[in-house]
Amino acid sequence: MIIVMKADIRPDSDEVREVVKAAERYPKVTTEVRAIEGATRCLTEVYLLGSTGVVPLDIFEEYSAVEKVIRIREKYRSIGRHEGQAESVGFEYQGLHFGQDTFHIFPGLCAVDNPEHTELMFQALQDVGIETARAGAYKPRTSPYDFQGLGHKCLPYVFELAGKYGIKVVSMEVTHETQVEEIIQGLQQAGNPTGVMLQIGTRNAQNFELLKIVGQQNELPVLYKRGMGITLEESFNACEYIASGGNHRIVFCLRGMKTNLGDPHRNFVDFAHVPVVKRVTRLPVCVDPSHSVGRKVLAPDGLTDIHHATAQGIIAGANMVLVDFHPRPELALCDGPQALLIPELQHFVDDVNLVRNSYLERVELAKSCQFAVEA
Ligand code: PEP
Ligand code: MN
Repeated sequence: MIIVMKADIRPDSDEVREVVKAAERYPKVTTEVRAIEGATRCLTEVYLLGSTGVVPLDIFEEYSAVEKVIRIREKYRSIGRHEGQAESVGFEYQGLHFGQDTFHIFPGLCAVDNPEHTELMFQALQDVGIETARAGAYKPRTSPYDFQGLGHKCLPYVFELAGKYGIKVVSMEVTHETQVEEIIQGLQQAGNPTGVMLQIGTRNAQNFELLKIVGQQNELPVLYKRGMGITLEESFNACEYIASGGNHRIVFCLRGMKTNLGDPHRNFVDFAHVPVVKRVTRLPVCVDPSHSVGRKVLAPDGLTDIHHATAQGIIAGANMVLVDFHPRPELALCDGPQALLIPELQHFVDDVNLVRNSYLERVELAKSCQFAVEA
């Protein structure tokens, strides 16, 4: 059960304390108070956990500080959008807001290979006014003989250079709990010049122990990538492990599905699911066109398939784009064939903004049409 407090009732207010006290009078019922920081206001929700079947709704509906009471049926109770929940679960990190209404581009290296390429990448981002990047230090590779990433050794220069070029958040995959520690320590040792969004890759989408670890720490937000060979429902349930551990700063990422039906792309692009994720959950949604499409090929209209897939995600309402760039893809140690070039960055940003603006116009236009939909 979720008790939604009226606008701007703070989590540490007397009103919330009163509701918590009343809820905890019921045997085997525990509570968790969550504050959802929106761009303009704070929303407080009191979650009742445990044996809530016998708890009546009306007792709480009568409190003047309570907006509404919602009974949860879905399995993913923390990330899910339950009946009557209109607000998305956004969060602030490093001074940036991530929600279902915001938009950020995270271009960068699939895998960090040396300080020179890292610097060229971050400098290019600064030149086009981007403050968010991707940079992989720990790479989960299909073959044990492939480059496995530079690991913790590259963290000092990645963080220092990110700070130097005004990069506020770096999305970085982790495959093991020790890497979470290394990143937190690395940031501290560097004097926190930047922030990290911990990436859970598709291969670890159901690594429940890793999901618990990133969920039990609250320092860093998490980018959760959909499992490439499981249902969307299974990915939601797995993602719920992060939130149930206490970390609600999550972005859900679509990156294509493994099936030969998607050939000749590396994965079957699944960006038509952006609105589905936004409807079923309250999380911001990211798309990864690079790992979906898998190679840089030109369509007859002069745009690459990666640009087209990116646009498909954005026109459907994506809140974030994770995309591979490399100063010298021919020298990249991982995923060079899908990397765009630095001189192509400005055009990519312009193209993306064009599509984002069209999406916002579509949303406005839709307000003039009342769709008749089945319940
Ligand atoms: C990546 O983003 O570097 C990556 C390995 O992606 P995925 O987990 O989607 O394959
Ligand atoms: Mn990659």
